[in-house]
Amino acid sequence: MDKIEHIGIAVENLEKSNALFAKLFGEAPYKEEEVASEGVKTSFFRSGPNKIELLEASNPDSPIAKFIAKKGEGVHHIAFAVDDIKAEMKRLASEGFQLLNEEPKMGADNKWVAFLHPKTTNGVLIELCQDRG
Ligand code: ZN
Repeated sequence: MDKIEHIGIAVENLEKSNALFAKLFGEAPYKEEEVASEGVKTSFFRSGPNKIELLEASNPDSPIAKFIAKKGEGVHHIAFAVDDIKAEMKRLASEGFQLLNEEPKMGADNKWVAFLHPKTTNGVLIELCQDRG
């Protein structure tokens, strides 16, 4: 794993949180995107070399809706950049980590993504992401 690619934050209302984080960073989000297959609406902010992803549930069955119902708003996942997501998924599975998807999925921001179950990573949802190029 190369570096932290972004940190994902679950929010109840993307519009309100966009305004809040725009004040925090002094800049509007550089991208907004809905990932229908994941049931999320997202926006991305830059803070220097770092990226923050805000996620709002786009339907009641969304994993983000379930997360907020259980834990409230807050840090949802940490994403790490990888060069070869399939190789990394294989390596981590062989190390005993539970993957939430068996094949890379199309994520937001032009990435292939995969998630590790938080029960195998001390309660932290880990996302792997590889540029789709
Ligand atoms: Zn993410």
